[in-house]
Amino acid sequence: MEINSSIGLKHLNHHKVYSYLYEVKSSSKLEISRGTGLSIPTVASNIVELERRGLVSGGQACKSTGGRRAQSYSINRTSRIAIGVEILKEEIKVVAVDLYGEIIAETRTEVEFSNNDNFFTLFGSFVNGFIASLDFPDNRILGIGISLQGLVSEDGETVIYSKILNATGLTLETFRRLFRYKCRMFHDTGKAALAEIWNSHGIRNAIYLVLNRNFGGALILNGEVGKEQRLAGATIEHMRINPDGPLCYCGNHGCAEAYCGANRFRDRYGLEVPAFFEGLHAGDESCKRIWEEYARNLAIVINNVNMVVSCDIIIGGYLLRFMDDNDFNFIIESARAEGFSYGSNNRIIRSRLEDKAPALGAAIDFIEQFINEV
Ligand SMILES: [Zn+2]
Repeated sequence: MEINSSIGLKHLNHHKVYSYLYEVKSSSKLEISRGTGLSIPTVASNIVELERRGLVSGGQACKSTGGRRAQSYSINRTSRIAIGVEILKEEIKVVAVDLYGEIIAETRTEVEFSNNDNFFTLFGSFVNGFIASLDFPDNRILGIGISLQGLVSEDGETVIYSKILNATGLTLETFRRLFRYKCRMFHDTGKAALAEIWNSHGIRNAIYLVLNRNFGGALILNGEVGKEQRLAGATIEHMRINPDGPLCYCGNHGCAEAYCGANRFRDRYGLEVPAFFEGLHAGDESCKRIWEEYARNLAIVINNVNMVVSCDIIIGGYLLRFMDDNDFNFIIESARAEGFSYGSNNRIIRSRLEDKAPALGAAIDFIEQFINEV
């Protein structure tokens, strides 16, 4: 019992030193001691152990404040990396992420998803080829997180609803067979929202709306996404804004998805997204009218969700690649016109991650666990 608690205490101190350094990024033993409340000898022995494990490296001397210059230590940010993948109906994106959630390498390829061996063989060799190109030893790769357009069972083993990919019933085992790393499978929007929290320090509550070819949304509560998904239902996209509107893939009419997905430009107006924005930015009148209609529908959705949960709205996804500041401000103005009251905790924020958030979030899931367990 005594031995167990002493091991427990050792581990706790080890974790304290690591997570303090992780937070402040660079620090001396004295500062770590002050920041954690641990004695300098305890900090010193943990630093030795963290250096031995390759997780921390010492190096530069801190700025002199008179007297001897103290050695500074920092997290070795690529001592572990994680791989994140997003599977879309027509594209695969892969990112490698360091311990601070920064993308260190990425690739993508356009390939049509189909739930069969041909696709998975191709998928496996594409992702494995990317990982091999990184030249990292296996024991430093935490795992592969896979975000896809579908709802995943609570145990993460099975896709329970995926009309877009037509992959309902797909199991994690299919991916495990392709890789020699740990694999996890996630609903794309939930993990995209996780990546957004990592990138917008300080945001605790927000609604994340993603303007991909298909529209999606997630609720971020108390800085967490995931558990709360059961509350959010994770299906803001099927909120109906016009019962007589266009048919949605879910079978209902007039869902937010049918109006706010980027596919709207193609399905309703026969315009591909890049061509549409080219027209809009060149001052084309019909593109302007389409944009006004799109922004108004999005504004209705923003305002509806904001009436239930009053908090920041983060907007991300594929369309952001094409939208300039004027376009984004026009969405804010449209929301205001629908009654959105813009304030300090009620902002409409442009995501900095554009369309990489789902892959990034899937990788961050592994990073978060690793940091918590050091
Ligand atoms: Zn629907």
